[in-house]
Amino acid sequence: MALRLLILMSDTGGGHRASAQALAAALRRRYGDQIETTILDAWQGHAPWPLNQVPKSYSFLVNRTPWFYSALYHAGERRRVMGAVIGVAAMWSDRRFMAVVEAHRPDAVLSVHPLLQEAPLRILARHGLSLPFFTVVTDLGSVHPSWFHPAVRCCFVPTAETAAQAQRLGLQPTQVRVLGLPIRPEFGQPQPDQTTLRRALGLQPDLATVTVIGGGEGMGPLRAIAEAIAHRLAADGRRAQLVVICGRNQRLQSELSRVAWPVPTAVTGFVDNMAQWMAASDCLVTKAGPGTIAEAMAMGLPLVLSGYIPGQETGNVHFVVDHGIGVFAPKPAQVAEVVSRWLGPDQGERLQRAQAARALAYPHAADAIAAAIAAELGLCRPR
Ligand code: UDP
Repeated sequence: MALRLLILMSDTGGGHRASAQALAAALRRRYGDQIETTILDAWQGHAPWPLNQVPKSYSFLVNRTPWFYSALYHAGERRRVMGAVIGVAAMWSDRRFMAVVEAHRPDAVLSVHPLLQEAPLRILARHGLSLPFFTVVTDLGSVHPSWFHPAVRCCFVPTAETAAQAQRLGLQPTQVRVLGLPIRPEFGQPQPDQTTLRRALGLQPDLATVTVIGGGEGMGPLRAIAEAIAHRLAADGRRAQLVVICGRNQRLQSELSRVAWPVPTAVTGFVDNMAQWMAASDCLVTKAGPGTIAEAMAMGLPLVLSGYIPGQETGNVHFVVDHGIGVFAPKPAQVAEVVSRWLGPDQGERLQRAQAARALAYPHAADAIAAAIAAELGLCRPR
């Protein structure tokens, strides 16, 4: 009989679901019908009001009142505050969460979300269940303390920084494994050369390419950033083109499609072939989303970070800047200046950063974590 793994996530940003899917796919690919995975948005579908509003409120808070979101984030860093909040959440969610457990009868639980350690562990313990519980941390630098719970079987972290933090916060070295941030397998596979790819994507094959992206939702001042870059590239006479990936932000996509751009520019909505767009690019402008950063590193793409979600993405900015993978440029004019420099005749700085990105990347993190989980659960050899 297949071993059942319940994967807990929540759609606060697109990254948690993407990581959950990458892990489920890797487990399926390697272990076939030996393991059955269920991905559960634990807040949205399976918690009572007001906890089921967490994903929606997240989007509202982050976009409309980032200062308030930041205050909540930092308040939650205090153990006592978080303990009290989670205690209430665990009580409220007990019945619904146990209904899920009874329906799926998992043999093990895996969380890819910072708010889904303490509450499910408390509920399971209250009902006398001690299932193997795994955490996969999906932020890169200094992360929220709620990621780390001493009762987990294993905590998979993406970087040395997060491993050190896990141990500072009470996890044993044997519980912590540094295996990278799980991304889709195509980011670890060889891609056609840039000329071929650009042609296939409808771009100019022989122009240097900068791609601008704002996470899955197309967040941030993408129009101002794209316009600043395009005008700067034109003013500096660069042989370059611009790609703007608007994600699910359809309003932005239709707005940008009507702009008269001073350099060749492609505007697109949500793309399913991000690895190809990245491989066709020479540098990437993005907010500090961990998924996009990990993917760009796997593709050896230097980064200009144009913004971050205060609190949760702050550590990602430090990670990128401290390791020389990219620069932080919070103003559109600063972004444009860096991009034009990198796409100019002196390629030295861009190539150095590309090398730093590649050196720290874990393109096969999903497979490595899947293998480690399978070993912990005693699964047979992969197919
Ligand atoms: N993404 C995608 N297509 C798009 C835009 C984004 O596949 O058109 C993916 C991107 O490759 C990454 C995820 O969405 O895997 C965004 O995750 P990240 O952690 O960077 O930011 P979030 O959206 O969670 O804030």
